[in-house]
Amino acid sequence: MNEEDVEDQGLKVVDAFDLDDELRAVLKPGEMVRDAQGRRHRLPRYFYEIPSHEVALKTRLTPHFGLNEFVLADLKEASRLHDYPRYVPCAVRLLAFYLEQFRHAAGASVHIAVNGGYRSPSHKLSQNATPHMWGTAADVYRIGSNILKTKEAIEKYNELAEDVSDEIHVLPYGHVTGRHADDHVHLDLGYITLIPREISEDRMEQPQENRPRFAFEERRRVDRRAATVPAGEE
Ligand SMILES: [Zn+2]
Repeated sequence: MNEEDVEDQGLKVVDAFDLDDELRAVLKPGEMVRDAQGRRHRLPRYFYEIPSHEVALKTRLTPHFGLNEFVLADLKEASRLHDYPRYVPCAVRLLAFYLEQFRHAAGASVHIAVNGGYRSPSHKLSQNATPHMWGTAADVYRIGSNILKTKEAIEKYNELAEDVSDEIHVLPYGHVTGRHADDHVHLDLGYITLIPREISEDRMEQPQENRPRFAFEERRRVDRRAATVPAGEE
């Protein structure tokens, strides 16, 4: 496959049950985890496979949010998840869509913290289920030039986020980790598992066939990768 063919393909979607043992152990596809209230939620199974840092950087989920911003991991993340290929639940693109609306409402750029996007269930801070493990939560530490560290700033943008959609849930200002936020705006869409249209669900939960169990996402109307239009052809 030459470079051009790779460029022309959508993101690769994988069933995490088909990944190697180490990856399955850290991503825990399909496992049940409890949230802080004791409710059980099933972890996502379908992930985008990001082959390289370069692809993460140039893949846009929306005009203002790149895939890279959702996979910036800190040292508390499982070490395997610092290497490429890396994985992020497919629901991340719904999050990007809502963040794009939020950015529009805020009228300024929205900055996601390192480790403020996808956080695997093996991350050291992942004790209870949090939508970060579904790729449907973002911790925003700065909007335009506003650093979100005060009650006033956090409440202002929490309200704005809630006004964007009833689907958006925010953490109130306060100091109990997991229940409040005091140095960022946490917004999430809940425990959404996205099953990509390119994947067939007629499969058992364990690998049992030899045929490839991944698919390439079909191209959307808007190109997800930064356009590489030669000069003069725009
Ligand atoms: Zn958060």
